[in-house]
Amino acid sequence: MHNSKTSVIEGLPLGVHHSMEHKLLWANRLYELSGPAILQAPAMASLVAAYDDAIARTWSAMWSLGVVSHCTDCAINDGGSCCGKGIEDHFDMPLLLINRLMGVELPVRRWDEHGCWFLGPQGCLIKARHTLCVNYICKRLQSSLSHEAVIALGQATVNETDAGFRLEEAVKKWLMNSL
Ligand code: SF4
Ligand code: SF4
Repeated sequence: MHNSKTSVIEGLPLGVHHSMEHKLLWANRLYELSGPAILQAPAMASLVAAYDDAIARTWSAMWSLGVVSHCTDCAINDGGSCCGKGIEDHFDMPLLLINRLMGVELPVRRWDEHGCWFLGPQGCLIKARHTLCVNYICKRLQSSLSHEAVIALGQATVNETDAGFRLEEAVKKWLMNSL
């Protein structure tokens, strides 16, 4: 027999094999119902701040190493190719919830029919990106960067994904223990 706690947990779309609409519905619902409580959980605020800081450092490295200008040129003149439709399928609901906890409004529909759900006219619309996105360097980009730049970028992205992992574990633990 299921108690009510078990049935709430079982109703959560955990894992990636759910529709984006379903994952978004739950991420938004949980944020509205429990966002403040999640953020007030022990250590949660510092985990969010550490992740936010690591994300900012990755973007700072991407700007200073010329990645942003290179990718902007690619997106404008060659259509880009790395934020394609289907990448959003790698996102699970807790990662979407983390975006809400970090102040991001999640898009309700796809802007580019051939692009990732989270791609907007100026690029990526979300803050907490999947490891696939953070780590991706195409051949063209790699050949434009010095070895030192690739190493520096790699260090920033490792810091970001480590901080994201720690926050995601804490959020999942909160969901399991508190719903
Ligand atoms: S990572 Fe590569 S494919 Fe993607 S925008 Fe940059 S240069 Fe273009
Ligand atoms: S989440 Fe952002 S960075 Fe990742 S594929 Fe989608 S638009 Fe690109």
